[in-house]
Amino acid sequence: MALINENFLNLSEDYLFSDIAKKVNAFNLLHPGSKIIRLGVGDVSLPLPTSVISALHTSVDEMADISTFRGYGPEQGYNFLRETIVKNDYEPRGVILDPGEIFISDGAKSDIGNIGDILSRDNRIAVTDPVYPVYIDTNIMGGRAGSFSSTGHWSNIIYIPCTAENRFVPELPEERPDVIYLCYPNNPTGMALSRKELKKWVNYALENEILILFDAAYEAYISDDDVPHSIYEIKGAKEIAIEFRSFSKTAGFTGLRCGFTVIPEELKCRSLKGELVSLNHLWNRRQCTKFNGTAYMVQRAAESVYSPIGKIQVRNMIKYYMRNARVLTENLREIGLEVFGGVNAPYIWIKSPDGLSSWKFFDRLLFERHIVGTPGVGFGPSGEGYLRLTAFGKYEDSLEAVERFKDWMI
Ligand code: PLP
Repeated sequence: MALINENFLNLSEDYLFSDIAKKVNAFNLLHPGSKIIRLGVGDVSLPLPTSVISALHTSVDEMADISTFRGYGPEQGYNFLRETIVKNDYEPRGVILDPGEIFISDGAKSDIGNIGDILSRDNRIAVTDPVYPVYIDTNIMGGRAGSFSSTGHWSNIIYIPCTAENRFVPELPEERPDVIYLCYPNNPTGMALSRKELKKWVNYALENEILILFDAAYEAYISDDDVPHSIYEIKGAKEIAIEFRSFSKTAGFTGLRCGFTVIPEELKCRSLKGELVSLNHLWNRRQCTKFNGTAYMVQRAAESVYSPIGKIQVRNMIKYYMRNARVLTENLREIGLEVFGGVNAPYIWIKSPDGLSSWKFFDRLLFERHIVGTPGVGFGPSGEGYLRLTAFGKYEDSLEAVERFKDWMI
C-alpha cells in the first residue's frame, strides 16, 4: 500500500477560517434573520474594473477565432504581461528587471506555497509573528517545522514577535535562519516597514547569506512615501530576495486569479557541494515541469490593469477600501480602542479591550454586536490579545460596524 506524506498529519485539522465559519453558523441558528457584518475574511467586495472586464471579453473572442486562438502558452507567462509589469511596477521606482525575471502565476498563494520545492528541507525558517498562516503550513507540509508545542510554536521555526511593544517592527533574530518570510505591508497587523527598517533586513540577509521571501501582496495600498513598494528598491536586495505580488487585492482578482513572482538573475543559493546555483533557473525548471501557465484571458485582464483607464479604476478601488480603513481606525480609536494598521494596508489590528483573549473578543463582537472579525491568535502566538478587521467590506457596512462598536464600548 502506498504511504502518505506524514508531514500532512502534523497540520492542525481546524483551519482558522473554518473555526470562524462554525461559530458564525451557530450564531445564525440562534439568531435567525440578524444582520451580520463580515469584516473577517480578507476577500474583496467590489466587482472587477470595467477595463478588466472588456479585456476579458476581447480575449475570449480571440479564443473563438482560428487566427487568434491560443493553446498552451509559455509556462513563465506571456511576454506582453511580463514586460508591462517591468515597465509599470518596477522602472518608475528605479528597479531595473528583465522580463525573464518575472514569472506569472495563478496567484501569490500558489507561488508562496510552491517555492519550497526548490529549497532544501534542511533550511531553518523564520517568520514574523503573527503571520499569514500559509508560510507556516506549507513548511509543515515540507517537513521543515519540527514539532508543535503547547505554546503554539513549531520547534524548528524561528518566531520574531511583532507586537505593540515593538510597534510591530521585527527585530533581527538571535539565531540565524536560512530563509525568512517578510510580508510588508503586513497581513494581519496592517503595519508597514520604512525604507530604513527594510534596509536593516536586506543588509542582515546579505551579511549572513539568508534568503528573504518578500510577500508584497498589499503593495498597492502603501500611502507613505517612506515605505518601499518593492524590496528591490533597497540596494543589494536582488542578491538575496524573491518577491511575490498579486493582482487579488490590487485589482479585485481574488476570483479571477493572477499573481507573479520575481526571481532576479543575481539571486543564488548554495548546493550541498557549496556551489552557487541560480534560483531563477531552478524555478523556471520547476514551473516548466509542474505548471502549464496562467490562462491567456486572465493575463490579458492583468495587462489591462496597467492601461491608463485601468490605473484610474484600480486607484479608485483602493481609495474606496482605504476610506473604510480610515473610518474604522479613526472611530475605533476615538472610542478608546488601541488600533494599529489601516494606513498602508487594508487591515486594522485591534488590541482586545480589558485584556480579553482574541477568541473571547471575537465571541463578544459576534454575539453582542453581530460583527465578524478574525481572532489574532489564529495568525500565531504573538497575535493573542488582538483581533483583525478588514477594510474590504462595503462602505455602509464599515460605517454601521463603527456605530455598533460605539454602542458596545460606551
Ligand atoms: N499573501 C498574503 C499576505 C495574503 O494575505 C494573501 C491573500 O490573502 C496572499 C498572499 C494570496 O494572494 P493570492 O490571492 O494572489 O493567492
